[in-house]
Amino acid sequence: MNHNLFATFAERMQARGDADFINTREGRGYSYADALKESARLAGALGELGVTPGDRVAVQVDKSPEAILLYLACLRSGAVYLPLNTGYTGEEIRYFLNDAEPALFVCRPAALDEARQLAETGCPAVETLGSAADGSLMDKAAAATPREAIAELGERDLAAILYTSGTTGRSKGAMLTHRNLGSNAATLADAWHFTAQDRLIHALPIFHTHGLFVACNVTLMAGSSMLFLPKFDADVIVEELPRGTVMMGVPTFYTRLVQDPRLTPELTANMRLFVSGSAPLTAETHQAFEAMTGHAILERYGMTETNMNISNPYHGERRAGTVGMPLPGVEMRITDRESGAEVPQGEIGMLQIRGPNVFIGYWRMPEKTREELLEDGFFITGDLAMRDERGYVHIVGRDKDLVISGGYNVYPKEVEQLIDELDGVQESAVIGLPHPDFGEGVTAVVVRQAGATLDEGEVLAHLGGRLAKYKQPKRVLFVDSLPRNTMGKVQKNQLRREYDATYR
Ligand code: ATP
Ligand code: MG
Repeated sequence: MNHNLFATFAERMQARGDADFINTREGRGYSYADALKESARLAGALGELGVTPGDRVAVQVDKSPEAILLYLACLRSGAVYLPLNTGYTGEEIRYFLNDAEPALFVCRPAALDEARQLAETGCPAVETLGSAADGSLMDKAAAATPREAIAELGERDLAAILYTSGTTGRSKGAMLTHRNLGSNAATLADAWHFTAQDRLIHALPIFHTHGLFVACNVTLMAGSSMLFLPKFDADVIVEELPRGTVMMGVPTFYTRLVQDPRLTPELTANMRLFVSGSAPLTAETHQAFEAMTGHAILERYGMTETNMNISNPYHGERRAGTVGMPLPGVEMRITDRESGAEVPQGEIGMLQIRGPNVFIGYWRMPEKTREELLEDGFFITGDLAMRDERGYVHIVGRDKDLVISGGYNVYPKEVEQLIDELDGVQESAVIGLPHPDFGEGVTAVVVRQAGATLDEGEVLAHLGGRLAKYKQPKRVLFVDSLPRNTMGKVQKNQLRREYDATYR
């Protein structure tokens, strides 16, 4: 049996024929039949460039339908797709190219000269792909003999190396197999009731698991169609909502949308599902969105290494502030930080995941792989979680963000939630900073709402009666905005670095 995920996709694509697969607002697009044909041409070009099964193809390009066709061409030819964040600078790219040793680097047309220099060591070929279907790779594809063949692959063959977001340290390359991606796409398409009638509003980047695998693989599995938008723009989303059926977003999409009075039940009447993930969605935003539209956002939880693990139900209550229950085929356990034993329901511990969705290791990091991917197949996610009385999982935060003050564990989210309740607070991040007496000092970094005059004393007074003394911040610092990456994740590392000297 061929385990190539493209074999599954190709069947679906043939069945959908002239139906839309992917479109842009400018009217460029591909039907399923076109996508099949074009991916064969691109596979032909890859072959002519010397790419063979198992070779990495590193890609740093702007979002376009053609980038997805290139991903499909890699799957088809058994090459390993390796997308890179469009925000990475030259030096970062050099690191990734040296680390991954791709056979081909595809860059933006304007970056060709720099890319050639960066690729000098370790990467034999550099081609370009622009967001208007331009670039040398597309020229080569147009002239290439199409390669219809679907590479014969086994269960552990890699489909992609996807670098993690680098929120807690240097990005790690997660090796994802065809089986990892295929099983998760099938599970999600089923769990979220995707059909050929769906039209997904796609405003996420495509170098991350959310916009690439969750969005595109689920679409391909179900034979749905996608509207590809270059980025999130509330005006464009408002225009497109009446023509869409599903949207997948990071929480910042929703926090921005709930500030928009155009958001009404009428505007979203054609939509059947809003999904949120990649970072925590606050219960407040969940409730505000439901009050405005009548739609309960479906929050789910996953990561680069495991694809999606836990999801709120399609039918049944979508509990605000929780990520729902393990998806079919995904096993979860929550263990004590010290003893490693499973904790009882209601208690916080380390979240571990096992299933066909879990990656096979970090690229060229055997030590790290051994530390985090246990022999019994469970992966230590690095997140802290709690299962409530109804089985819904609450993500409490990252283990690395846990503050240990005077020997006591302080979970930042508990403190952040109380601060966020205060009038005049837009958002907050609670971090631990080196402290001579306590080891770490609990510190709140707060963004005020526009025009608010709230001060440190008021925040501390609000927390006074509500939190045990050891959980109360020693200092409250005010900032204009929290540092976030492209996926809307708060960069607590950056905050810790910036305020490192606060108590010293
Ligand atoms: P790195 O591993 O390099 O530090 P990262 O963990 O941010 O970066 P990703 O794989 O993109 O890289 O993100 C996965 C993480 O995102 C999860 O471990 C979790 O902390 C967070 N996350 C994803 N979905 C949710 C969610 N619904 N609620 C809370 N956190 C979430
Ligand atoms: Mg991570």
